[in-house]
Amino acid sequence: MRFVSTRGDAPELGFTDVLLAGLAADGGLYVPERWPELPDLSSATSYVDTAVAVIETFVGDDIAPDDLRTLCSDAYGTFRHAATCPLVQIDDRQWLLELFHGPTLAFKDVALQLVGRMFDHALAQRGERLTIVGATSGDTGSAAIDGVKGCDNVDIVILYPAGRTSDVQRRQMTTVDSPNAHAIAIDGNFDDCQDLVKAMFNDAAFRDEMRLSAVNSINWARVMAQVVYYVTASRALDGTSTFCVPTGNFGNVLAGWIAQRMGAPIADFIVASNSNDILTRFINDADMTAREVVPTLSPSMDIQVSSNFERLLFEMNGRDGGITAEQLGRFRSSGRLDVEADQRTDFIDGTFRAARYDDEATLAEIGRIHAETGMLVDPHTATGTAAARDLAGDRPVVSLATAHPAKFPDAVERATGVRPTLPPHLADLFDRPERTQTLPNDLATVQQFVRSVSRAG
Ligand SMILES: *Cc1c(COP(=O)(O)O)cnc(C)c1O
Repeated sequence: MRFVSTRGDAPELGFTDVLLAGLAADGGLYVPERWPELPDLSSATSYVDTAVAVIETFVGDDIAPDDLRTLCSDAYGTFRHAATCPLVQIDDRQWLLELFHGPTLAFKDVALQLVGRMFDHALAQRGERLTIVGATSGDTGSAAIDGVKGCDNVDIVILYPAGRTSDVQRRQMTTVDSPNAHAIAIDGNFDDCQDLVKAMFNDAAFRDEMRLSAVNSINWARVMAQVVYYVTASRALDGTSTFCVPTGNFGNVLAGWIAQRMGAPIADFIVASNSNDILTRFINDADMTAREVVPTLSPSMDIQVSSNFERLLFEMNGRDGGITAEQLGRFRSSGRLDVEADQRTDFIDGTFRAARYDDEATLAEIGRIHAETGMLVDPHTATGTAAARDLAGDRPVVSLATAHPAKFPDAVERATGVRPTLPPHLADLFDRPERTQTLPNDLATVQQFVRSVSRAG
């Protein structure tokens, strides 16, 4: 399997090179040269079996089959539920797909526990080192750090928006006692952090000197790992189902679209957003205009430029990287993305529906779920269950539960009067010392910091 850039101007690479590169050299995102069919899963009896079979279709010969199985069983062995990603029924036709049983309590562990191990495996084989830089609105950072902590060949620098993550999210990043892990607060919002990361990658000399790599959701391997739970969940239900996805960078819902494309029995998707509703406006009103990011109770969705949307856009453009690059250039300069009417008919209508929920509606939904089922859901998950309730048709609807409620205890308590407790392995989180510093939203300053901690340069 070879991989091509969505901007059409970077070399085609194999899986391991794509894994280690993150972003393509032309600023685009890597996608497989073609979408494979789902493999025969009749003998898959566990999450790990399905993961190995699905991931093999993308990895090919780049990872030996036995090694891939070890990587998957080690990664999903860190999950505290025997099913890894259990499907829990909450009413006559609604299910929650619980993706938060990993070490940092958010769905990003599903990808990053595996991707961190894949990095280590590939670098050890090549005798190389690299530096991961990433931006986080909260959950990616802790999941990325947990995925590579203690890794000999990787240093990781994670930028987060100062004051805009929850205390739990920040502490999960800043209390990791591993010399290769650095969580840095930036005076700015998540898009500023993401822009700094993109700028570091676009500085070719710096990128090469530091051997920069990314593990934020632009990394193909993350999207790939997320395809797996759409396959296990859709196959567990009778007939085809609707998946409802709380969305920020569009990575998670894109993984679902890929699973559907590979043949998983998925009818369509509901995209749920908070007040930062660029995707909802695009899907419902053909209006993709970037606005100011407003902070909400679901900070991991406080995003106005959804970087993974580029992968769908590439498909909408008939996989023409030149047109995609041009269109994105216009979006960057004008703040507005325009697509043709027939592209909407072919790719959006019938496949994606969308709804947005502000903080008040999110709290009301957390309260409603608790009153009706006794369950606590986090604010991200609640935007999804609200959308599932408002937009579902006759099919079963699977809402993705993207974070554990104890990651956002204040909002959950406000909505229900009940304060969710951290699971035992994180019970002493608030007693652990923090290690962090704040840097200005300035490229040169951030680059200087990365240079000072990287062992790759
Ligand atoms: C990252 C995250 C999201 C958004 O996922 P994307 O792949 O960026 O769309 C939603 N909920 C939680 C809890 C997250 O951590």
